[in-house]
Amino acid sequence: MTAKKFQLQLLAWFDKSGRKDLPWQQDITPYRVWLSEVMLQQTQVVTVIPYFNKFTQQYPTAKDLANAPLDDVLSLWAGLGYYARARNLHKAAQQIDALGFPETLEALIELPGVGRSTAGAILSIVFAKSHAILDGNVRRVLARFKAIEGWTGGSAVNKQLWEISEYYTPKARVADYTQAMMDLGATVCTRSKPLCQQCPLQAECQALLTDKVHLLPTPKKTKKIPVKQLVFAMVTNKSGEVLLEKRPPTGIWGGLWSVPELENKQEIPIWLDKQGLILHETEELGIKRHTFSHYHLDYLPIRLIVDSPTNNVMEAGFRIWYKHTQDKNIALPAPIKQLFDEFREE
Ligand code: SF4
Repeated sequence: MTAKKFQLQLLAWFDKSGRKDLPWQQDITPYRVWLSEVMLQQTQVVTVIPYFNKFTQQYPTAKDLANAPLDDVLSLWAGLGYYARARNLHKAAQQIDALGFPETLEALIELPGVGRSTAGAILSIVFAKSHAILDGNVRRVLARFKAIEGWTGGSAVNKQLWEISEYYTPKARVADYTQAMMDLGATVCTRSKPLCQQCPLQAECQALLTDKVHLLPTPKKTKKIPVKQLVFAMVTNKSGEVLLEKRPPTGIWGGLWSVPELENKQEIPIWLDKQGLILHETEELGIKRHTFSHYHLDYLPIRLIVDSPTNNVMEAGFRIWYKHTQDKNIALPAPIKQLFDEFREE
């Protein structure tokens, strides 16, 4: 299919069926589009909308975001996951505040958390500059349309898909085209049960014509990843508050609030002793698994109910007593949040 025909068919579909009332499609500014694109990385539109609204209310400009304490930004992000995005957003807002909003691909990808696809989306949507995108949705559409086999994240396939994406990206109406590609992937060429009969590309879709839609894009070969084991010390005082520690700014769950981690159960008495905490009761909650990209974490949460702890366990800004039933929503790692949600249901 020629690029012209591809664009015309896609844009005609977009005019009829594309999404035009998303909050970041109104009142378009570089800041709002950048914020939405970062939030949309690995997250669906329905989940992003309330977060986008909260953020733009609280921080209407990059300056407001830049001047906010990171802790507040992480708290507002709580529940959206992949917290590195929030940390990068905050850092990038400070760069934008100091140097202005970048308007070239090279300058945009210098911002923390902005890759080539996010930069392409910002440039096309905000500045009407013809730049290709290749997010998860677009990868899927193009891999199917061209029946490209192999994991789309592999370097050769990735390069090929970028070339295809560039080939089809128009000079005119590029903002609509970018939105149309994202919409097509999200609403028609979906991961499972794509609606090929409604697709503007169906007549020349190679995957459809060769009955390979269900096989593409090729899933990544799963390799065995190591398993780490940890004990989560859910130190609980008589008021039902749990002791939380601030994690270091970098690394896994950087800057979030979490419970103390111990290597194994045997360490508990020594650790409690060091903190000056007197154990009243323990309760094991059963091993659970959380999977990171490079390892599985098998964690054993143990509730350690302690007698009225003295305050020497506290360190300002590093430790807090947190009452999950009452206190404000703070930024917690997903497994800790899940544990608190389970407590809430008890
Ligand atoms: S015809 Fe089906 S598989 Fe091909 S691009 Fe359209 S929705 Fe995707």
